Amino acid sequence: IRVLGIETSCDETAASVVALADDGRPQILSNAVLSQIEEHAAFGGVVPEIAARAHVEALDGLIEAALTDAGTTLADVDAVAATAGPGLVGGLIVGLMTAKAIAAAAGKPLLAVNHLEGHALTPRLTDGLSFPYLLLLVSGGHTQIVLVRGVGDYQRWATTIDDALGEAFDKTAKMLGLPYPGGPNVEKAARAGDAARFAFPRPMKGEARPDFSFSGLKTAVRQAATAIAPLSEQDVADICASFQAAVTDALADRVSRALERFRAEYPDAAGPALVVAGGVAANRLVRSTLEKLCADNGFGFVAPPLALCTDNAAMIAWAGIERLRAGLTQADGIDFSPRSRWPLDSVSAPVVGSGR
Ligand code: ATP
Ligand code: MG
Ligand code: FE
Repeated sequence: IRVLGIETSCDETAASVVALADDGRPQILSNAVLSQIEEHAAFGGVVPEIAARAHVEALDGLIEAALTDAGTTLADVDAVAATAGPGLVGGLIVGLMTAKAIAAAAGKPLLAVNHLEGHALTPRLTDGLSFPYLLLLVSGGHTQIVLVRGVGDYQRWATTIDDALGEAFDKTAKMLGLPYPGGPNVEKAARAGDAARFAFPRPMKGEARPDFSFSGLKTAVRQAATAIAPLSEQDVADICASFQAAVTDALADRVSRALERFRAEYPDAAGPALVVAGGVAANRLVRSTLEKLCADNGFGFVAPPLALCTDNAAMIAWAGIERLRAGLTQADGIDFSPRSRWPLDSVSAPVVGSGR
């Protein structure tokens, strides 16, 4: 099986061809990604209108590049998979409509893929992980813990009740005058900082409710910064280090709760595993803390290579392959409208159309 994947849900335009060999081994034949970070940097965040326009300009070229890099043509792919949600609707329209046009012209099935399902199934592409496992998705738009039971079979165990974790990093950076995107810059500044200087709150820590919250922490950071302004470089470093320590601690508390629950529900699972995905998974402190937490609890820790952890089209093509392989098909893909909101739990109704 060979699938062309297209991703345009946020600020990355991406196209990729992934193949499944006869021996069952997946292979990423090409993975073209164009980040729009520079276009949005001046605004300190993703501007939907600019994003949609940039997708329009870049997508055709990226699809061509993905096919060429893969040494293949549309005639040789078995299906076209595109992100149909959740995300910014302007970008989703660009990607999904392009995919529909290509699928119709080439007479191939269209697969409307949930972006979160792409993240959720990536460890099966990269590490051949078997079900069930836990996914921690920490990006600019999402902060969730998801139980992945099978293809099309997901259960969301926790989500954020306010800001996403990446968003908290970005807002903290903005408050401190650090450039966009905030995450990497907060991490860099934190290296020279004293994590013990500010005792920021650990939101939700110890609470029975499994969810995340980061907006109170953001307020605490603002208050601390205002109280000692003007900020020296050392002040900024100390705030970043203290912030990073607080979010990591809060994250570890939430995740350990989920590991416990997984143990209780799957006492016989042979190789329980936690997978991290999303841009925040690049953070070294977050990574090492989760890795240790998993090791201490007898869980495997799977962190796909960063290029496949952040938004990309290989994960969309792969989700398409998983759906084809599982026989999850239904002939309404061409009528599928982009969904700006599309919770992963509601994905089970699979979508495949004839392309006509
Ligand atoms: P979506 O949520 O729809 O997947 P996104 O584009 O917001 O989309 P990603 O591209 O996966 O998500 O990740 C971007 C986020 O990750 C940004 O908020 C960024 O600040 C954060 N991030 C990136 N690197 C780091 C880092 N080293 N430490 C902390 N946060 C980081
Ligand atoms: Mg992104
Ligand atoms: Fe994403």
